[in-house]
Amino acid sequence: MNPYKKKNKKPILCLDFDGVLHSYTSGWAGAANIVDPPVEGAISWLRSLLGCPDDVGIAERYEDFKIAIYSSRSKYPLGRWAMKRWLKRYGLTKYEIELISFPLFKPPAFLTLDDRAFLFTGGFPDPKELIKFTPWYRRPATIEQAIKKISHKFPIRDLIKFAKTPKEKACITLHHSVGRRIRNDFGLWQESELYLRLKDKGIEHPDDMSNYLLERLHEWLNSET
Ligand SMILES: [Mg+2]
Repeated sequence: MNPYKKKNKKPILCLDFDGVLHSYTSGWAGAANIVDPPVEGAISWLRSLLGCPDDVGIAERYEDFKIAIYSSRSKYPLGRWAMKRWLKRYGLTKYEIELISFPLFKPPAFLTLDDRAFLFTGGFPDPKELIKFTPWYRRPATIEQAIKKISHKFPIRDLIKFAKTPKEKACITLHHSVGRRIRNDFGLWQESELYLRLKDKGIEHPDDMSNYLLERLHEWLNSET
């Protein structure tokens, strides 16, 4: 008998697996093959949601939800087995895993946590914006990575035109187009890794952050030629 099992009905919190619990840096390797470690903090957070005491018994506990893990792996019996085995490998006990449901179909959830979702707030998004979506773990973490990633988004002829225009004018011209994509796609409106690095440099606002990256790109392109 599981000592933590509760009878009362709780709202379902549906968790995606890859890119939320599983760090998924290596990409898809098969439904039953889970190769990467957890996202930092995933296991202790999950444990706190299950309302089980952690190893030292001091973690905060939230028991307001019934946890369901639903993934594209879920329709495969071996996929569900692999997710449970993976959770066990990274520290969840048998009792804790028993408290989680692994439904075959999308459950009627109160709320879903997913790395590939768009929050619908009543207005339909522009498909052109949707196609540019980047999950959080594919975002650049350093300034160097960000500059290279921006350069890959430009067609070569636009890159040459950008590099040949005086720096200030070139960056202002792109502020509302490429600049906006940088701010949205690289997580500069949230506390992404890149945001924190730029903030460390004393740059406070996402508008100034995207401008800083465009300026560095301009300098980098001109040093390469
Ligand atoms: Mg996912």
